[in-house]
Amino acid sequence: MDMKEYIGQAEKDLLHTYNRYQIVLDKGDGVSLYDMEGKKYLDFVAGIAVFALGYHYPGYDEALKGQIDKLIHTSNYYYNVPAIEAARRVKQASGMDRVFFTNSGTEALEGAIKAARKYAWLKTGSHDGEIIAMNHSFHGRTMGALAVTGNPKYREPFEPLIGNVKFADLNDLDSVMSCVTDKTCAILLEPVQGEGGLLPAEEEFLRKLRALCDERDILLIFDEVQCGMGRTGYMYAWQRFGVKPDIMTSAKALGCGVPVGAFMMTERIAQNSLTSGDHGTTYGGNPLAAAAVAKVLEIYERDDIVGHVRQVAPYLEQRLKELMAEHDCIVEHRGVGLMQGLVFDRPVGEIITRAVEKGLLLINAGADIIRFVPPLIITKQNIDDMIAILDVCIP
Ligand SMILES: *Cc1c(COP(=O)(O)O)cnc(C)c1O
Repeated sequence: MDMKEYIGQAEKDLLHTYNRYQIVLDKGDGVSLYDMEGKKYLDFVAGIAVFALGYHYPGYDEALKGQIDKLIHTSNYYYNVPAIEAARRVKQASGMDRVFFTNSGTEALEGAIKAARKYAWLKTGSHDGEIIAMNHSFHGRTMGALAVTGNPKYREPFEPLIGNVKFADLNDLDSVMSCVTDKTCAILLEPVQGEGGLLPAEEEFLRKLRALCDERDILLIFDEVQCGMGRTGYMYAWQRFGVKPDIMTSAKALGCGVPVGAFMMTERIAQNSLTSGDHGTTYGGNPLAAAAVAKVLEIYERDDIVGHVRQVAPYLEQRLKELMAEHDCIVEHRGVGLMQGLVFDRPVGEIITRAVEKGLLLINAGADIIRFVPPLIITKQNIDDMIAILDVCIP
């Protein structure tokens, strides 16, 4: 079958939950992808902030192949060395004390929400704990994560979701305060909003939230599924300002392509929330996924991936701002590290489609923002190449 025929087949067989670009991707190499006709694409999407190390980073494939030859899966009722090694490295990278591995980002949120609810229930003996989440947030598509996602369009068709959730505005302490009651058990946010539009939380806002949470014994939960793993120039985005959460989530780049996520917490929360029998998963942290996590974190440390982000991110920002100066339809630059966005005065779908035709993969965040979440290993030359293509795609 050729590419068109495969696409026709897919359109008959797969559920229509995505409007896909009309290409069938076949293989990757470094920061490039190839479709099945051999056409090359410069990849500034990275599987949506997943392929932090690009494709076939030295040592990564070998680690996975080695694990496949030994053992892919074992139940969580037994120990396995890759999971033990991965947990040790996740603790070290995240500053958290205890780790639970999941299969995805949304499941990491489910676990974080369950931990917060259990903490509140143990403390108060009642079931009316409330969670405050942020408008324009994105936390995933399962019912719990969806309930705290601040986009009514995603939520409404599936209500009722889990209850006792209120929404406040990011970087607006008054709006958070107006949601706080003596039932508030957790405040949840992305330190840098991803899908919602590349908006970073401000230092003062985070500090005041931390103080509020400490004062009232409210749990501060950070969703670092997208902004974590070095993307902001810090291993986890909270480390930028040193405002540490009680519970946090990670996924996307955590396994650099192998489906894996995690939620982590401090020892104090671990001792006062989920315990034996409270939570589980068949696959979460299985030896294959865990081998990926352990190898990825080893590579980050050995090759100073975060240091590289700090080197190239200012250049991406500079080039995007230059582009903005040249095009009236670009109205705002946002973001931090290798998690940046350009806000347009119109929908960006056509621009992205044109870029794909010219061999550049980009992704939107909402209707009128182009999001730049490339592999963290990109070079200044890759950035120049991206800008050159994007420049001619903008009307
Ligand atoms: C992508 C994302 C999720 C959901 O992760 P999945 O692996 O798609 O379930 C949750 N939170 C944030 C911030 C994300 O960007």
